[in-house]
Amino acid sequence: MPDGVQVQGDLFHGHIPDGAVYVGRPAPGFKRSRWANPFKPERPARDKVRLAGRWLSHPFNPAGWPADAEQACNWYRLLIAAHRLEPLVRAELAGRDLACWCRIGQHCHRDVLLEVANGPVDDALDGAMFSVWLHSNWRFLTEKMTTEQKEAAVAAVLRYWDRNGDPTDPMTREHLVWWD
Ligand SMILES: [Zn+2]
Repeated sequence: MPDGVQVQGDLFHGHIPDGAVYVGRPAPGFKRSRWANPFKPERPARDKVRLAGRWLSHPFNPAGWPADAEQACNWYRLLIAAHRLEPLVRAELAGRDLACWCRIGQHCHRDVLLEVANGPVDDALDGAMFSVWLHSNWRFLTEKMTTEQKEAAVAAVLRYWDRNGDPTDPMTREHLVWWD
């Protein structure tokens, strides 16, 4: 089973255990990984953040910031969901050990990536959300959600369509988002 690993050595002489992929921020001897978490605890989030080599908008208040490492990980997970990056995560990172500086057991986005890359695809949950969109009053059902929840719901519907829908008839965010 692929696992999370900690970069060995110290900040100036770090080295990555054999076979692992570095997913952290820039450090001496390490280029910033394209999977580094753009959200830092107690640092304001920019209105666009970089992940997987792209600049991405996100549903979080740009004036706000994650309170702690756990919330930074939650935002990271939602960013991946909102931009449907799961297939890319799986394609690049499935089966690989992932290295970051955080100690094992600390909240670290490496665990989010491990889960997305190697965990089961929850087709049933995405399918349920798709069914809500198709057969129910989508607007009514999403009205009371927070923006994060709305974006996660949209991502679920889009994922389901990606896997099960007609590939000649792609669905986009615009089909689903009434609140922009
Ligand atoms: Zn980390």
